[in-house]
Amino acid sequence: MNLTPLRYISTRGHSPAVPISQAIAAGLAPDGGLYVPVALPSIDPDAFDPHGLLADTAATLLKPFFAGDPLADELPAICVEAFTFDAPLRPLPAHPDTLMLELFHGPTSAFKDFGARFLAACLRRLPRADTRPLTILVATSGDTGAAVAAAFHRQPGVKVVILYPDGLVSPRQAHQLGCFGDNVTALRVAGRFDDCQRMVKAALSDASLQAQVPLSSANSISLGRLLPQMSYYAHAALGWWREHGTPLNFIVPTGNLGNAMACLWVRATGLPIGEVRLACNANATLPDYFAGGDYTPREAVATIANAMDVGAPSNFERLRWTFPNETQLRELLHAHSVGDDTIRQTLTTHAREHHEVFCPHTATAMHELDRLHHSGDSRTWVVVATAHPAKFETVLEALLGHAIAIPPALGALLERPTKTTAMAADDGVFKHWLRGHAEAGPISTA
Ligand SMILES: *Cc1c(COP(=O)(O)O)cnc(C)c1O
Repeated sequence: MNLTPLRYISTRGHSPAVPISQAIAAGLAPDGGLYVPVALPSIDPDAFDPHGLLADTAATLLKPFFAGDPLADELPAICVEAFTFDAPLRPLPAHPDTLMLELFHGPTSAFKDFGARFLAACLRRLPRADTRPLTILVATSGDTGAAVAAAFHRQPGVKVVILYPDGLVSPRQAHQLGCFGDNVTALRVAGRFDDCQRMVKAALSDASLQAQVPLSSANSISLGRLLPQMSYYAHAALGWWREHGTPLNFIVPTGNLGNAMACLWVRATGLPIGEVRLACNANATLPDYFAGGDYTPREAVATIANAMDVGAPSNFERLRWTFPNETQLRELLHAHSVGDDTIRQTLTTHAREHHEVFCPHTATAMHELDRLHHSGDSRTWVVVATAHPAKFETVLEALLGHAIAIPPALGALLERPTKTTAMAADDGVFKHWLRGHAEAGPISTA
């Protein structure tokens, strides 16, 4: 099959069309917009190997997205390298016709591992003219930083600098961020996530700094993270459809809208996905919009589902590009917001009544499922479990009164020593630090 090359344009419409590898290497489009395919391809459900693993589904699904690109031939190998762990779809015995898609079996126990590992596998294969190390900056509210650190740890020619808000991530998240060492540096910023994000943007948009220190980013706007996230939705939905002949409906815990966007793109390719619902914490920018209000980005508020503390969801531009008709979009998608009290209540009720434990982010989706069941909805829903509960021990152990068993991957990271560096929430101080960090010489991988 000869596929037509697929080009990528900016949501803002003022950047030249580029092949996928260029869009992945750049992250953000030069006009400040987000890269999107000129048109989403249609994909035949029968094109997939019914006995294939997640990596096989990913390679088939993403093939038209890489058509005509220098990375096209490498795509199957990239998928095998990135998807070394599964995304099991597990029935929830206590709730008829309800499943959980577990996305936390990767090295850092959150779904961010899928995207980070795929991005790293792509970047590793892309030629760079510059022989100096590339410094990848990542602002994180908890899970992204660890996933990116794990994916790029000891990769030659790459340094990773993580910025996270001091005191606003869980103790285990903080431990993970600092435990890699070697080419990874974790900066605990005396500020909030928005400060970390601003500092990264300030560095990336400083041309004179970039001339001295080659910089890139690994934030969720990168197609190198978004596209691979489509794989687990396609894999789950196709498996279910072959066996039952019906589409699956998904409830996705949502912050920056990267995970849910991937699900919506799978549906737009024609694969059997029914309704998609967004579950949000107290940061209600999207729920307010879907209730009919204007889109009003705002400052994030801190919640116990901290990886979803986003007031200005960065993928909103992609959502609007995908669904230009606002009336249709509002009919197509629903979003609900829950406060910390409801998250806590959902966690304790499910633990008490069904002996189920999940992370606070997953609880926002579980609450939405409870709501649907109470209203008599009997469709097959999938609750998307975005992180392992053991990452949020301080919230859960205080609430449930018992320890949460630690999965082996997380246990291995927690056993490593950890080291983080204090950083002021100041663009100038950060840029100065970056210059010094670049001069610190070759990366030790001892
Ligand atoms: C990042 C994250 C989310 C939010 O995902 P988005 O793609 O930003 O919408 C939800 N839950 C967990 C555990 C996360 O790490």
